[in-house]
Amino acid sequence: MRIVFIGPPGAGKGTQCKRLTERYGIPHLSTGEMLRAVDRDSALGRLIASYINVGRLAPDYLVMRIVKKRLLDPDCVPGCLFDGFPRTVAQAELLDEHLRDQQQRLTCVIHLNADPAMLVQRMLRRAELENRIDDTEQTIAQRLEVFEQQTRPVLDHYHAQSLVRTVDAALEPAQVFDQLCAILDSLA
Ligand code: ADP
Repeated sequence: MRIVFIGPPGAGKGTQCKRLTERYGIPHLSTGEMLRAVDRDSALGRLIASYINVGRLAPDYLVMRIVKKRLLDPDCVPGCLFDGFPRTVAQAELLDEHLRDQQQRLTCVIHLNADPAMLVQRMLRRAELENRIDDTEQTIAQRLEVFEQQTRPVLDHYHAQSLVRTVDAALEPAQVFDQLCAILDSLA
């Protein structure tokens, strides 16, 4: 199964994907984590930080390079969970092209839908726990704006392919998880 998770920052993509990976054994590809894992003392790490730390998206070419490299790992051949990728229509088109070349396709796109005001509260709580540099009030507002401007159109891209299933991310995490499992079980 190859599943894309799309949702605004704070909707719970990372948390849910981690649990799904435990249950289904499908690798979890978080582009946010992959970008944060690049050594901050390298030139590339500094470039990436200059986007992430102010709530902007890293450049498409860079994200594609990291994702394509990871997709070559043998554990990704049967499938994976894409968390936070694609985040722009250009990334979605490049992923379509890549999958076509590999004679693969997406199984489905899960939209974790949530009200922005609730997300701000969630992320400010998370900031205290995780100490992420991009979880300040100003950066959160910027990331939500970027989601509306650049990532919401990705949902339209996938609606046109009839791939989107929407789940209410305002529910308790356990309930969201149950709904996601029901979707994955129906696709197996
Ligand atoms: P969240 O979805 O809660 O914002 P992520 O860990 O998914 O958390 O992403 C954190 C940051 O990493 C984003 O704000 C962005 O700067 C960068 N990022 C993650 N995925 C992508 C992507 N696919 N394209 C560009 N930038 C990305």
